[in-house]
Amino acid sequence: MTERTMEQQWALSHLAGGNHKYLEELFETYLQDPNAVPEEWRHEFDKLPSVNDQVRTDTPHKPIRDHFLLLGKSRTGGRVGTVAPSITSEHERKQVLVHQLGTAYRFRGHQEADLDPLGLLERPLVPDLDPRFHGLTEADEDTVFNCSNLYIGKEEAPLKEIVQALRDTYCGSIGAEFTHIVDTTERRWIEQRMESVRSKPKLSQDARLHLFERLTAAEGLEKYLGSKYPGTKRFGLEGGETLIPAIDELIQRCGSYGAREIVIGMAHRGRLNMLVNILGKSPRDLFDEFEGKSFLEMGSGDVKYHQGFSSNVMTTGGEVHLALAFNPSHLEIAAPVVVGSVRARQDRRDDPGGSLVVPVNIHGDAAFAGQGVVMETFQMSQTRAFRTGGTIHLIINNQVGFTTSRREDMRSTEYCTDVAKMVQAPIFHVNGDDPEAVIFVTQLAVDYRNTFRKDVVIDLVCYRRRGHNEADEPAMTQPVMYSKIRSQPSSLALYSQQLVNEGVLEDSDVKTFADNYRDALDNGEHVAKALVKEPNKSLFVDWAPYLNQPVEDYYDTSIELKELQQIGRDMNVIPESFPVQKQVQKIISDRDKMTAGATPINWGYGETLAYATLLKEGVPVRLVGQDSGRGTFAHRHAVLHNSKDGTQYVPLQNLYEGQPVFEVYDSFLSEEAVLAFEYGYATTKPDTLVIWEAQFGDFANGAQVVIDQFITSGEHKWGRLCGLVMLLPHGYEGQGPEHSSARLERFLQMCAEQNIQVCVPTTPAQVYHMLRRQVLRNLRKPLVVMSPKSLLRHKAAVSDLEALAEGHFHTVIGETDSSIKPEDVQRVVFCSGKVYYDLVEYRRSENITNVAIIRIEQLYPFPEEALQKALAPFRNCEDVVWCQEEPMNQGAWYSSQHHMRYVVSRHNPDNYLGFAGREASAAPAAGYMKLHLEQQKRLIEDALIYPKK
Ligand code: AMP
Repeated sequence: MTERTMEQQWALSHLAGGNHKYLEELFETYLQDPNAVPEEWRHEFDKLPSVNDQVRTDTPHKPIRDHFLLLGKSRTGGRVGTVAPSITSEHERKQVLVHQLGTAYRFRGHQEADLDPLGLLERPLVPDLDPRFHGLTEADEDTVFNCSNLYIGKEEAPLKEIVQALRDTYCGSIGAEFTHIVDTTERRWIEQRMESVRSKPKLSQDARLHLFERLTAAEGLEKYLGSKYPGTKRFGLEGGETLIPAIDELIQRCGSYGAREIVIGMAHRGRLNMLVNILGKSPRDLFDEFEGKSFLEMGSGDVKYHQGFSSNVMTTGGEVHLALAFNPSHLEIAAPVVVGSVRARQDRRDDPGGSLVVPVNIHGDAAFAGQGVVMETFQMSQTRAFRTGGTIHLIINNQVGFTTSRREDMRSTEYCTDVAKMVQAPIFHVNGDDPEAVIFVTQLAVDYRNTFRKDVVIDLVCYRRRGHNEADEPAMTQPVMYSKIRSQPSSLALYSQQLVNEGVLEDSDVKTFADNYRDALDNGEHVAKALVKEPNKSLFVDWAPYLNQPVEDYYDTSIELKELQQIGRDMNVIPESFPVQKQVQKIISDRDKMTAGATPINWGYGETLAYATLLKEGVPVRLVGQDSGRGTFAHRHAVLHNSKDGTQYVPLQNLYEGQPVFEVYDSFLSEEAVLAFEYGYATTKPDTLVIWEAQFGDFANGAQVVIDQFITSGEHKWGRLCGLVMLLPHGYEGQGPEHSSARLERFLQMCAEQNIQVCVPTTPAQVYHMLRRQVLRNLRKPLVVMSPKSLLRHKAAVSDLEALAEGHFHTVIGETDSSIKPEDVQRVVFCSGKVYYDLVEYRRSENITNVAIIRIEQLYPFPEEALQKALAPFRNCEDVVWCQEEPMNQGAWYSSQHHMRYVVSRHNPDNYLGFAGREASAAPAAGYMKLHLEQQKRLIEDALIYPKK
């Protein structure tokens, strides 16, 4: 104990604040077995009004909680050692204190655990862990106390034995944080698992040798690469080698529980080691990459420590498919991609509980603490749209982020893992230089996920033997840490010594294992022992039908009119006993009329018919976004709400027996993690139409990293195809700078090598065919859609049933007004999206007959041929104008004008392409309605008045 007064220590202790937590623990024990608590407390609990047979559950109720608060205050008066006056014997009084001590270890034992292999980690003082703090003295050491509330295998034991058991369990190489979990069953499960073996289960001889062999492999690979390619960046695992035996154990254990696939996302540190030693990548292939010999067949590729890989390995439970995800440099964003990929695999296997496919995310400590997407990914972990039965997280905690390691700079939380507490995930910190402890927490983590279907975190506290990469000098910024590291034996050296000391190995065995591993590498042999050389291909999706597909605009998406009407009728059936709100009822009745052909099809109906027809044709649909069930602008109504009891009914899920899955979810208000998740889903399940919808298009800003690093470039960096659709409401309607623009210019600026498709449909038939085309043809390219807002209700933005039944998606729509005579046309206006309707309206109101309007419905890949054709009739055209609502520095102007100019110059070399739109602007749109209207009027006049007055 230090000089702190007892009062100060009390304030620091877990019991401060009325002792109610402790009382709750005591109460829970009482609920399980009233005889397990001292008589005074039993008597007290018996008096609680609500404790009767029906409420003897594990959840303390509020009245009880309040009562505890009172009890805690009156019994302790905020002072240590002051216990109930009703406690009669001294021994019983001390028994309560022993109980308090046990609880203290469960709460705060991790703070005195030996976690840092370097011994540099500064730990706070934890007074609660000292028996004296609780009022127990040296004289009590040999007194036998009841310890039936602990799982140490004894009913009674002397105090010193109880303390030793608690120290061994909670203050050894493992620091467990789990008392933030409110579910008593979960907490008990962890206590039982740890206390019963004092956090140190006995491993069999075979298991220890296997662990040693894996550790030898981990160190062996780094040494080999270090000497063969000195100074080459490889983000080696040195200092964190226990990762390899941990992942090996994780895979084997998941396999033994029946998992068929494991998807792993990871940092670049240690990736080459994982690829070779776990996934069984051929060392020869890796060496070729080091020597710059291997290339992706298509695309521009990525550095070797970002590449994904897959293979099958054998476990005691059967063959397991492993997929190591590709990732960009700032890797936390890969975490939701991995989880999305896992959900897709689970859906493919009809595995809603998540027992067949397991996500594993390996993180770095600095990024785990720093990146907001980590929080978002935790937040999604238990929601309907995104849950997967729990992710196993493993942090390679080398205690430094590139060059930043001062605690006061790195984070405000105690551990880098604190964010995981928000979903009540248990956190196991473990010293990376104790490989057997690492194996134990790995088993705990897998078993916990398997039992409770929730996220769990392993914090592998280790160090980085070299700098951030092999070319970096870490002593420049971490001199003390690196002087310690220089004299630190490796994890393998320490474990070898331990096994030699314990007679498990001879000195000579250590060398033999290392030599054998090096020889295997020399021979280019596979070094992942569990690798299955002839993998069972049915464990993963065959992408062959989607590879090397031509990028062609036309695809026949027509359907028999009668069938379309039947599907429409089926979709509009709502159970009689399901009352809906008045406006919703009207929408349903309107849809009946549209189906009958009595009124034209509006946007919401055209879009939902696309889903219905796809489902009829056997295509699953997944639509996730902010308010997607109803639609931000109340146009979709894919989910109906019972106006009496609030239950939901989804007509598209009830079309016919045995139909494919239609999933529609309102997502939580995240863009980054959600879009990344949907990208992961779409890159894994090519048979499904996967759509992410933003509440407003500008919300996509929050997911820019996903757009830049995955959606627009994933195919070219990693050879991963993706058919994801992004619906981004876009349009200048006076809603101010934030809700007008989906930043079309950013998408267009990133268009190259036919990486994505960017469409701006203007009719219900167009959105219908565009969505059908996206999944019916085998081309898998992301589709970015500038989707409408006011057009959803625009009287002119409607289509005939025939246009849906017989048509297809048009990349360009030529002049449709038959009153415009081509020979009279002096100017042609090109445009995209909603502005078309403003142009048509003004042209009609002003009786303009010398201007034709052509809509470009697909801006990328740019439909030059189709535009050429649409322009062809206007032989007398003197002038062509591109009209956009967006300011000149935004929208399509800068990125697409070269395509338009090419078409215009081919049509008539004397024609010039002009611009009609808002002036360049810092903000996307004006905030004042008056200004917005003035600008809008001007740009329409600029486009249509020719020659200029
Ligand atoms: P995985 O299950 O993710 O390991 O994928 C198994 C195999 O399918 C990979 O090795 C790739 O050959 C192929 N594959 C997976 N996803 C894609 C994709 N999005 N695009 C193209 N090929 C893919």
